[in-house]
Amino acid sequence: MRCGSHVMVRSCGACGSVRGGTGTYEGTHTCKTRGCPTCAWVRAKRVSEWMGKAFDKLDHRGHRWHMVVMTFPYDPDDPEDLSVEGLRSRVQLAARSVKYLWQHELKVPKAGCYRTIEVSVRGHVHANLLYFGPPTNSYVLESVMQTSAHEDLDRIGSIHVQDVAYAPAGKGRRNHATDPRGSREGLERAAKYISKGVCHGGGNSDEEYLSNQCFVRTTDPELVARWEVATYRTQLTQKMGALRGLKLDEDGKKPHEDVDDSDVACGGCGVVGEWGSKVTRAEEYVFDCHTLGIPALVTGNWKERPPDG
Ligand SMILES: [Zn+2]
Ligand SMILES: [Zn+2]
Repeated sequence: MRCGSHVMVRSCGACGSVRGGTGTYEGTHTCKTRGCPTCAWVRAKRVSEWMGKAFDKLDHRGHRWHMVVMTFPYDPDDPEDLSVEGLRSRVQLAARSVKYLWQHELKVPKAGCYRTIEVSVRGHVHANLLYFGPPTNSYVLESVMQTSAHEDLDRIGSIHVQDVAYAPAGKGRRNHATDPRGSREGLERAAKYISKGVCHGGGNSDEEYLSNQCFVRTTDPELVARWEVATYRTQLTQKMGALRGLKLDEDGKKPHEDVDDSDVACGGCGVVGEWGSKVTRAEEYVFDCHTLGIPALVTGNWKERPPDG
């Protein structure tokens, strides 16, 4: 509950004023709990940035980006399926299934894959893959699984495949990518979407949550706790093939590593370039920034609402 209560900001060494729009979680203490909405958000941002770099790096004629979702059927009303053991067995099945699919179909020269395993609000365990490789589809992948001598075959559900060919263009619209590999923006969006770990309500992508201006609808805390135990020492994310060598810094950068504000004047005292980093309470800081009409975080996309709502 306390996670995300503090952010790192830039403050003036001469007068102590804090500069708006400079908040970051880099270098602050976060709980790293799999069910935490703040950590989910921080992690999703990092994976998304990393995936953008992966897009730039991976290039091979004929390969393109796909998003693959593998589901594992269960009964949401069966307490056994929602128990630690039930969840854990589906997590392990998910990991094994993806491994099989990679080894028997997806693993071709210059191909790469990023895999996450997630649980939904109602306990639905699924595997997500962002796959860079030759064109494929659900029919092909499902056939591969069916022809396997996989002992858990009857526990595997559907496999859904989608090209990452579109960039989101706001309110139900989308733009088709001109790059044959797919859309970089679409890939970043997909990476964010599959990296939350546990699904939460829309609020956690919103700065307003940090300043207590809105609530987050989180997954049932009991399920989250069971998920934490069920996935103990299990790798929920994995890099395969061409993505293995591409470093993903899950612990983040140093605070304000790429900020150059040596020519920025302080709004409080006017002194130029005396900035340093310090930790401050998120709630007041975010609220103050919003009062000024600006996002609080460096990567924030918060916008002021029109006065009439
Ligand atoms: Zn100052
Ligand atoms: Zn946390």
